[in-house]
Parts: sequence; structure tokens; C-alpha cells
Amino acid sequence: MRALTVEPGRKGSLRVTDLPEPVPADGELLVDGLAVGVCGTDREIAAGDIGLPPSGSSWMVLGHESLGRVRQAPPGSSLTAGDLVVGAVRRPDPVPCGACARGESDNCRNGGYQERGIKQLHGYGSETWCVEEDYAVRLDPSLERVGILTEPTSIVVKAWEQVDLTGARGWFEPERALITGAGSIGLLAALIGTQRGLETHVIDLVTSGPKPEAVRALGATYHHHDVEAVAKKIRPDIVIEATGVGSVVVDAIRNTNHYGVTCLLGLLSSGHHVDVDAGILNRDIVLKNDLVVGSVNSNVRHFREAADVLVRADEAWLERLITRRVPLARAAEAFEVPDGPQNGDVKVVIDLDKNS
Ligand SMILES: [Zn+2]
Ligand SMILES: [Zn+2]
Repeated sequence: MRALTVEPGRKGSLRVTDLPEPVPADGELLVDGLAVGVCGTDREIAAGDIGLPPSGSSWMVLGHESLGRVRQAPPGSSLTAGDLVVGAVRRPDPVPCGACARGESDNCRNGGYQERGIKQLHGYGSETWCVEEDYAVRLDPSLERVGILTEPTSIVVKAWEQVDLTGARGWFEPERALITGAGSIGLLAALIGTQRGLETHVIDLVTSGPKPEAVRALGATYHHHDVEAVAKKIRPDIVIEATGVGSVVVDAIRNTNHYGVTCLLGLLSSGHHVDVDAGILNRDIVLKNDLVVGSVNSNVRHFREAADVLVRADEAWLERLITRRVPLARAAEAFEVPDGPQNGDVKVVIDLDKNS
């Protein structure tokens, strides 16, 4: 079978390689890969910046945003051949810490967790893969074209869960949400905002293309002005920050409504300095009872809820988030970012179909 492999730490090592068919261990499903999504993490691994291969190996199968069809399920499994499935990304650390022991490896305390396609485990970017039944989530058959969005949706489901949990420390009936960044994470966050009936605003740099159109199609409002001006005007009760840009983060936190909850999801490499008056930022947070919470990764519970979010969404809307589909043989193209911040790419997907 063909697989997309990379040598973590070595730029230019991305390859489509022939590998032996995997053999499922006890309790594992054998799955025919349909597609694998590409995100910023994959691009960083391909650039040699992050990633860790399985122990004893110099290379790793890339890909953590999965979609496949079960070819063979273990005896007694609740899944059967033909089911559409997605595999969860993170596995508990071996100790395990208290969070991992309770099925919340997304909140691992000791950092010893492993991740498919990122850290010490082969990913899902192959024509065939195996996954433990406990880490496989069944999707509605209607999601064949768009189920590849389950993993990024799970990240956003967890973020909204953090907003709910932290908001619930007092009276909390939010009305307005601001999402900063209209990539796949930002747009999926906006989808959930509108599913909840919130007045949802999205801000990004682009002025045309699929991002503003996708926002408007949700019934949300698209902005391309600076964050401070937009946030001052709408006073969001909730901010979901998906850019990682320091100045955007600070402007968003400073201009929420009272009791505002800001959930930070974005990551940028270091070296982006912003002048911040920490005293004023502190006053803003204290005097408004604001809360700023970081969120990363997701666990199987979030994947299940993500599958429900996708079923409730308009399939044609989800399709517009997948702006490019690249066959496995030309996988390298999926890692090229066309034309800077004005580029129209939302989600690029590598097709794993045997004929691609
Ligand atoms: Zn990703
Ligand atoms: Zn742990």
C-alpha cells in the first residue's frame, strides 16, 4: 500500500512510499483510508520543525485528520465492515496521569502522551490503516464527502465546551460570539456559534473568496476591519481566537463584554513581539471578571460530538470548506500555501482512494 511518510526534523523528506499492508492487533479495526486532511501542524512537520517518529524508526506516516471505511472489525465489535470511521489522534501517557487515566488525554499533565501522525505513532495518511476500536468514532453514512472535517471540528467542540464550563462559574447567557480567523477552525467555530443561535461574527484579513462567502452562508457577519474596532462595536460575550497573532489576541481580550470568555486556540511560532501595557490588560480582565482559557487537542468524547455537529450542518456548506482535493500521488501539492494571507484555501484534503 502507499503511504505519505516524513522524517521528522528533516525538511524535504516528505514522500509517497510503498509499505506493507498493516495487520490489525487484537481489538483493532482494519480500515481503508478515504482521505487525510492537512493542517498547519502537518506543514510544520513537513518543514522539519516539529514531530517525533515512533521509537526505533527515523520516519513516520503523516496525517492525523482521518476518514476511512472499516474493512474488517474484531469479533463482537459494535462497528462493522462498511462503516465510515474517524480515528482519534491522542493516546494516554503510559504512567498514566490522572487526566489520561480518566479518558482525558487531551488534558494530559505530564506531556508523555502520543499522537497519531505527530508524536511517536504512525498517522492515518495511508491507503490502509488500523485503529483501536475504542479510538474509532463511527460517522453517519451521509458524511462520506465531509467527514474528514471531524478532527478539526472536535478541536472546536472542545473549545466551546471550555467556554461553557468556564462561563458556568456564574450567570451566563451569552448572546454574541466573535471568531478571529476564518480558516477551517474559525469557520467550524462559527458553525457551532450559529447552531447555538448566537449572533456570530467572524474576522479575517481576506476581502473575497470562500471565507467571507462561507461566513455569510451561515447567517453570520464577516468583518475584515481591525479586531479592536469590531470587538469594541459588538462587545462579544465569547471570543474564539484562531489566529495566534499576538496583537489580535490582546485586542480581543481587551474588548469583550463584561464577564467575557476568550478561548485561545491559535498557535504561531515565537518571535512576534507586541507592545502590551500589562497593567491595562490586567485591569481589563479583573474589572470585567473576564476569563481567558487555552485549549488544545480533543478526546474521543469531542470526536463523537463533532460527528453530531457535522450531521446537523448543511452538507453543501461543509463541502465549501474543502477548497482543494489532491490525489495521494501528488500529495506534496497539499503542503504548498498558494499566495499568502489572501489565499483562499480553507481545508486541503489528500484523497487516499486506491485509484488516486
Ligand atoms: Zn490538524
Ligand atoms: Zn497524561
